[in-house]
Amino acid sequence: METVEIFEVGPRDGLQPEPVFVETAKKIQLVDMLTGAGCKRIEVTSFVNPKWVPQMRDAREVFQGINQKDGVVYNALIPNMKGFERAAESGLKEVVTIMSTSESHNKKNLNTSVPEQLKIIEEINKAAGPEGIRVRSYIATVFGCPIEGSTDPQKALDIALALESYGAYEISLGDTTGMANPDSAYYVPKTILRALKKARLAVHYHKYFGLEFANNLASYNAGIRIFDGAAGGLGGCPYAPGARGNCATEILTEMFHRMGVETGIDQQKIEEAGAFAQSLSTLLYKKDGGVACNT
Ligand code: MG
Repeated sequence: METVEIFEVGPRDGLQPEPVFVETAKKIQLVDMLTGAGCKRIEVTSFVNPKWVPQMRDAREVFQGINQKDGVVYNALIPNMKGFERAAESGLKEVVTIMSTSESHNKKNLNTSVPEQLKIIEEINKAAGPEGIRVRSYIATVFGCPIEGSTDPQKALDIALALESYGAYEISLGDTTGMANPDSAYYVPKTILRALKKARLAVHYHKYFGLEFANNLASYNAGIRIFDGAAGGLGGCPYAPGARGNCATEILTEMFHRMGVETGIDQQKIEEAGAFAQSLSTLLYKKDGGVACNT
């Protein structure tokens, strides 16, 4: 039977842009529900400057409060070396770096240039290796940038090869604002997959009226077997105008299960986690009387 890995980003990528602070206990409950649903890889939080992202100011408390299960990898997004140090102090065994193909988005999201951010990620990899911490790396705006428009796939390829050379064990191609289509979602990952020698490759699609599932399927057909999703379809990027939520994990798993592809995730329990995640959101769900307004 074919199998895929689901990388769950809901507690971080889903909740990070929420304007109203989500209680620490609720964040912990969401992570525990995801663990209970069989998620094996969960992005729990972000060790980012609380002045920039107050929603993630309880990163350490959330990490300490979750019920960590053997065999599950709990990780966190880190924008820079300071974030890496805080993550390492909290005992994380995996961190996730981020940068964009686009200079404008990188500047808005991280306040660095693309070459500066590459240098920072290289330094993080140098520090992580001796501590036994694995580094996953996002490349954002791979399929288009909300500020600059279309993205040359060569930029993502060049960055992916650089990240691999620094030691990233996995790279995730981000469609930050839902600009991919099934052609680009096939062609771009396939090209990068062929070029990588060691690093694994994942895809990270954002919502666009259901196109995200066509994009995930296209990437599956291109040979991708690692897919990012957020329970409940929460998310969006505060620095990317027009960003919608992440691809909903529970619909992604339903799609794969119907195809006879194993995800290791319990369908009913991930749907419960998704509903709980939506109950925490004011950005995408509550403001419309509890009805999803961003599909
Ligand atoms: Mg995302």
